[in-house]
Amino acid sequence: MARKRILITGAAGFLGSHLCDRFISEDYHVIGMDNLITGDLRNIQHLFKLENFEFYHHDVSNFVYVPGELHYILHFASPASPIDYLKIPIQTLKVGSLGTHNLLGLARVKGARMLIASTSEVYGDPNINPQPEEYWGNVNPVGPRGVYDEAKRFQEAMTMAYHTFHGLETRIVRIFNTYGPRMRLNDGRVLPAFIGQALRGEPLTMFGDGSQTRSFCYVDDLIEGIYRLLFSDYAQPVNIGNPNEITIREFGEEIIKLTGTNQQLISLPLPVDDPKQRRPDITKAKSILGWEPKVSRAEGLKITYDYFKSLPEHEIQHKDF
Ligand code: NAD
Ligand code: UDP
Repeated sequence: MARKRILITGAAGFLGSHLCDRFISEDYHVIGMDNLITGDLRNIQHLFKLENFEFYHHDVSNFVYVPGELHYILHFASPASPIDYLKIPIQTLKVGSLGTHNLLGLARVKGARMLIASTSEVYGDPNINPQPEEYWGNVNPVGPRGVYDEAKRFQEAMTMAYHTFHGLETRIVRIFNTYGPRMRLNDGRVLPAFIGQALRGEPLTMFGDGSQTRSFCYVDDLIEGIYRLLFSDYAQPVNIGNPNEITIREFGEEIIKLTGTNQQLISLPLPVDDPKQRRPDITKAKSILGWEPKVSRAEGLKITYDYFKSLPEHEIQHKDF
């Protein structure tokens, strides 16, 4: 039987590359697409030799064409770390809006089911904790994070409109902070920042007093949740994340212990609109998908630290964003 064909945008990035691996292992024909603005071909170089993998170097904010049948589209292309989307704000807005529109159009033409990567950032700096899917959020549209948050909110609205008005099969995953191998060591997110600093023997830069919280999910757990959501019949947004919440100060102390560095946490100014608390309510994922995270932070951090340690020394020393 011919393999089912799936298009994965953002394929050379952190999450996209893990999704490519998962669908290759499930015997799909995987078409990866990426413009490499924040991604790295080395994340998928092991797939290039496979007959059931293809790669298109393309910016999805421009018209997207893929020959042949398509059964599924996973839209993961977008800058994702605050440093990245502050540096390339217009591209971030375009890929969430124009890119999503192009891919929804492609899905419609091909009769494909489309899943979009939304984010906990649609909740902004939330007034309630944990955040259930019914919460509408507290986003500053004109603040520095607005380019990402509003692009993702528009992406959800556009996707829902295609579902409602065109009957397109769509799925929306709201991803909470996820970590694991293939994150960029210099992408500015807190985990690679802290581990990179520990490896270079520098102090760990905690923003603000470190009392803000996040809840970190290991990448394998996230990929399993996305896989289940794609094949569910649920078109409303679903939170996928690990509800184990921790302050950034405690997180820094965990990294100091894990890496054995003799460095300390230092405090730098808190970025504008940095959410004070974040924790997913995963009641829906549990009841609809039978999903919950399995990997503890201790296990996940160990694997991720080993990955970063194994990188070439010049990459560990390269700090520029
Ligand atoms: P990443 O930066 O590692 O990967 C994003 C990929 O998209 C990169 O390879 C980049 O080159 C590509 N890309 C960006 N704009 C593009 C465009 N216009 N055309 C084609 N390719 C383009 O980030 P990630 O952490 O893997 O995030 C992937 C997706 O998941 C994003 O949509 C992000 O918003 C979402 N997400 C991630 C997290 C997380 O914790 N990692 C949390 C919430 C949401
Ligand atoms: N953070 C920090 N030091 C860093 C990078 C980030 O203290 O070097 C903080 C940041 O202010 C935020 C949290 O860590 O409160 C998570 O930041 P990240 O950029 O990883 O993701 P966010 O959840 O803010 O999108």
